[in-house]
Amino acid sequence: MPQLLFTPPDLPTLTVVGETNLFPVVRIFCVGRNYAAHAAEMGGEVDREAPWYFTKSAFAVCPSGATVPYPPGTSNYHHEMELVVALGAPVFKADRASAMSAILGYGCGLDMTRRDRQQDGKDNRRPWDLGKDVENSAVLGPLTRAAAAGPLAKKKIHLSVNGTLRQDALLGDMVWSVDEIVSHLSHFYHLAAGDIIMTGTPAGVGAVQPGDNITGGIDGLGDISHTISPAE
Ligand code: MN
Repeated sequence: MPQLLFTPPDLPTLTVVGETNLFPVVRIFCVGRNYAAHAAEMGGEVDREAPWYFTKSAFAVCPSGATVPYPPGTSNYHHEMELVVALGAPVFKADRASAMSAILGYGCGLDMTRRDRQQDGKDNRRPWDLGKDVENSAVLGPLTRAAAAGPLAKKKIHLSVNGTLRQDALLGDMVWSVDEIVSHLSHFYHLAAGDIIMTGTPAGVGAVQPGDNITGGIDGLGDISHTISPAE
């Protein structure tokens, strides 16, 4: 029998509040421009025809609470606080109600971004990978089961850097709701357990520096902490 030539890394995992077993992360989809005020601060507008996406590798996951070096290849590394949707069942070509039933839980996460490399991509009509698929850039907190999460719209989403509030919004400010996103994305992928969706960031994104501590959270869906150390 052929053997693997080397031992591959294990999938990253997330904890689920109140449970022992872990959620393995398989794919990470991210929604672009899902809060009108953030789209405006980036010099764009929301696209009300359909949501759109980029991806990160699962190996970009960094557990909340870690300290990681300022990444190479950027001098404008930005925080983006986001609602994270975790799928626990297959969902393909689903309507909004079926899409909701595939959601295992919710959490909060950071879509850390090389803003200068993302801007290069925009300026040159090239992909965003160097801006978005950054090692340790998907900073994820614990998941809360969907049944325990309660209604999302009035939950506050917030982020501070060194204790100073920078992002502060309501999940109800999202242009595309969770059920709309999962349903829409399921017409392009055979979504399955282990897939997560980062649903876009509200206004107030900004740069971080070595030594900064990022904290944030979503009402009832946990908190996150992330510290940037000097570049390697
Ligand atoms: Mn984002």
